Amino acid sequence: MSQIMLDAVAARDRSMDGVFYYAVLSTGIYCRPSCPSKRARRENVVFFRAREAAEHAGFRPCKRCKPEAAAAADPNGQLVEKICRHIDAHPGEPVTLEALSRALGMSPFHLQRTFKARTGITPRAYSDSRRLNSLKAGLREGHSVTRSLYDAGYGSSSRLYENASAHLGMTPSRYRKQGAGVTIRYTIAPSPIGQMLLAATERGICAVQFGNSVAALERELRAEYPKAEIARSDRKLTEEVRAMREIMGGNSSRSLPLDIQATAFQRRVWEALQAIPRGATKSYSKIAADIGHPKAARAVARACAINPVAVAIPCHRVVREDGALGGYRWGVDRKKKLLALEAARNDVG
Ligand SMILES: [Zn+2]
Repeated sequence: MSQIMLDAVAARDRSMDGVFYYAVLSTGIYCRPSCPSKRARRENVVFFRAREAAEHAGFRPCKRCKPEAAAAADPNGQLVEKICRHIDAHPGEPVTLEALSRALGMSPFHLQRTFKARTGITPRAYSDSRRLNSLKAGLREGHSVTRSLYDAGYGSSSRLYENASAHLGMTPSRYRKQGAGVTIRYTIAPSPIGQMLLAATERGICAVQFGNSVAALERELRAEYPKAEIARSDRKLTEEVRAMREIMGGNSSRSLPLDIQATAFQRRVWEALQAIPRGATKSYSKIAADIGHPKAARAVARACAINPVAVAIPCHRVVREDGALGGYRWGVDRKKKLLALEAARNDVG
C-alpha cells in the first residue's frame, strides 16, 4: 500500500482526485481522495488506479464525493488516469516523455504539464515510485534480490540498481533482511498526542509513532521489521519515554541516540529539521535552501513524510510556504497540538 496514497487520503488532497480512488472494505464504498467523509481505518482501505477497477471489484460509488461524476467531468483527471495506467502496464520500460506522448497521442509538453499539475510529480517519478514499491513488496515476500529486481522491472541495469539502493536507503539485500539478527524492544505509552509507540535497537531509537490503536501501532512495527526479534519491554524503555515526554512538553532539548536508515539526502533534511528551534517553524522550501538544494522542496516534503521517529526529528516544525500546516504522517491534528505545546512553552519563557 503506497504511503503517498495514504498521505493523500489523510490530507484529503484534492490534487490527487482522479489519480486514484480508495475503497473501504467494511462499507463497500469507494471515494475520491478528497472525500469529506470520516476516514476509515487504514487496514480497511484498498486503492484503485481506475474507477472501473473499483466497480469491478464490487464497490459502489460514494454518495458524498460522487467519484463517477467527478471523473466524467474532468478531462485532465482522465488523462492522468490514462498515463498512470499506461505506465503500470509497461513496468520494465523506461519512461520517456516521447514514448508516452506517442502512446497517448499528445504533445510531450502538455502531457508533462498536466500530469505534474495534477499529481505534483513527473510521470518518471511516478514510474520510479511504482517500481520501488513493487521491489519492496517482492523483497518482503521473501523472494531473492535478483528475482525481486527483475519482477519490479529493474532488469539488469546497474544504474537502476543504484537508484533502488538510494531510494531504499540501503542495498536491496540489506533491505531484504528486514532487521534479521536485530533485537528491537518497544513500549507503548500515553502521550499528549495519543498513544506513542517507541522502539529501540541496541544502538538507539528506531521508531517513534503515534496512533489511537495500540494493535495497529504494533502491527506496523512488525511489518516494518518482519525479520527482527521484536519484544515489548516497558521497563527497559522508561528513560526514553520520559525523555520524549519532556521534549513534547518543552522541558528538554536533549537529543537521543537514533538508529535509523536514511539516504544521504534524507539525513541532511533530518539534520536541518533538528536545527529548527522549539516553537519555531520553517517552510519546506526554506529547508531545501538550507541544505543547498533550493529546488528540492518536494523532496524535502517526502523526506519529512517518511520520518520514522516523530518529535525526535521534529518534522512537525515544517509548514507550507503560505503558513498552512501542510501534512503530517501522524495526522494534522497531532501536528497542530505539538506546535501549540511548543508555542505555549515559549510564551512562558
Ligand atoms: Zn466519498
